[in-house]
Amino acid sequence: MAEPSRQLPLAEFGVPPLAPTLEVLDERSRGTRFLAIAPRAAINSPQATGMGFWSLNPYVGCEFGCSYCYARDTHRFTVERARRAGALPVDPALGEMEPWQAFERRILVKRDLAALLARTLDRHGLQDATLVIGTATDPYQPAERQFEITRSVLAVLAARRGLRIGITTKSPLIVRDLDLLATIARRHALSVNISLTTVDATLARRLEPRSPAPHARLRALARLRLAGIDAGLLAAPIVPLLTDGRAALRALFVAASAAGARFVMGHALRLGPAARNRFLPHVLQEFPELAERYRTHFGTHHSASREYRRALSRRLRALRRDFGFANEVEPSEAEDGPMARPSTQLGLFGV
Ligand code: SF4
Repeated sequence: MAEPSRQLPLAEFGVPPLAPTLEVLDERSRGTRFLAIAPRAAINSPQATGMGFWSLNPYVGCEFGCSYCYARDTHRFTVERARRAGALPVDPALGEMEPWQAFERRILVKRDLAALLARTLDRHGLQDATLVIGTATDPYQPAERQFEITRSVLAVLAARRGLRIGITTKSPLIVRDLDLLATIARRHALSVNISLTTVDATLARRLEPRSPAPHARLRALARLRLAGIDAGLLAAPIVPLLTDGRAALRALFVAASAAGARFVMGHALRLGPAARNRFLPHVLQEFPELAERYRTHFGTHHSASREYRRALSRRLRALRRDFGFANEVEPSEAEDGPMARPSTQLGLFGV
């Protein structure tokens, strides 16, 4: 019988229920393996994901390995399904690995995604639709340097017209594709989100062990803007008690302004089961003074409290006004309300 909670994440990645045996494409010295998969679908429909737009993710899993990453849960679902289908005989070590660890050590590469996307667009057109690349994993993670799946997808899109296209990434590798992005921007409506939750390089390293440094992301944002690409900052996730302070968020806005960002968006941390199993021990190790409050709240909740999210939304809106950014309300910030308290750091989880 179908398990609804598992169907949605699988659909999000377009992974077939019965995947073929996975071919090992490469292996790093630290043990990360790259496995080829043949996706059933190039893009995932709004109905399948509940996100209100079409989405595409060239990779399942992400070597950046951010401690808070919610996509760990999707990777777990994908691997469990593939294992039940007998599709992982080449990689028995995967069975001994915790899901949160497999997420960053076993990267599934959607080889031939571009050809599948081209066939899909030829057949169905999708004129005027919105397609977002990188909704679940980073399309410019280190694997992309080698496999160029994202670049091949962009080449397909550059040969067409009339979509609204979004790309989300933490990686300056995106500037490698400025040529294709410029063409896409002329033929479609293109917007790029550079994901950055803090300009504090030391804090970023403690939260995101292998992601690019903040200054490198900001430089990439500036280069995108200089090339005339619509681009801005996505502060996601904003981590309670760590990156949500007034001074920290203001520093983010100062950096966004300096880089010429067109917008700044953000939303609070969410933790599914696999993400929680990674992040809560990480908080205990790196930020022990916060561990009890995190365990108390996220032990039983996926999201920060409603009051917290409202207060965060208000703080972001005020900063947008101060810095002259348009105050578009994204769904994650839709709940407005009075600031919970006038402290520097937002009240954690509304308590
Ligand atoms: S870069 Fe994005 S997808 Fe990759 S681990 Fe970090 S949060 Fe997850």
